[in-house]
Amino acid sequence: MNFAIPRERMVAEQLVRRGIRDARVLQVMGKVPRHLFVDEALAGRAYGDYPLPIGERQTISQPYMVALMTEALELVGHERVLEIGTGCGYQTAILAELCSKVFSIERIKGLADRAVRTLDSLGCYNVLARVGDGSLGWREEAPFDAILVTAAAPTVPHALVEQLAPKGRLVIPVGDVYSQELRKGVLGEAGMRWSDLGGCVFVKLIGDRGWPSE
Ligand code: SAM
Repeated sequence: MNFAIPRERMVAEQLVRRGIRDARVLQVMGKVPRHLFVDEALAGRAYGDYPLPIGERQTISQPYMVALMTEALELVGHERVLEIGTGCGYQTAILAELCSKVFSIERIKGLADRAVRTLDSLGCYNVLARVGDGSLGWREEAPFDAILVTAAAPTVPHALVEQLAPKGRLVIPVGDVYSQELRKGVLGEAGMRWSDLGGCVFVKLIGDRGWPSE
């Protein structure tokens, strides 16, 4: 099956039409093979306007949500980016194309291992991945120019704010288990300046500064 056409259609109909403007984000989302990050049986639906299951009761986010969060990080190419919630690695691959190095943390080893295999097969060599609790950030590698959390937190984990570089951007879904607000914070001299990017529904951030595990 030729996936180039559904991918182009995804960019035009789901991203451009909804207001994604960053040309680099649009170009990369038109290039990264999203269908390789999901089970073969779901490949035909990979460019649809919805999230999909990736196993372990987790999901790959809807393409528009990936684009919105990525655009909000305002990447120009030189940044070191921390991603929390590697999942299948699709968002990681998008970030890897747009910045200098991605540090990605996933709490479920089976997902992390599969994501690393996919990322390696695509030549994403500027990614350092590890298994652990991303709600605490990655102190040894801080500071980061941008931090993206791809799971829903009850509150903003303080450790993440502490690990931002000056002018750093933090994008994170915050709210209850069933619905959240996508929040963007920018670290200025007077502290964090917050704005809201809209409603969203993510799986739980589980960990020390997230939700307890079931
Ligand atoms: N960006 C991912 C992708 O493209 O597939 C989607 C991520 S999925 C919506 C959220 C991920 O966050 C899940 O894989 C989940 O296991 C992970 N997660 C939840 N709590 C975490 C934590 N404390 N640290 C690291 N990963 C976490």
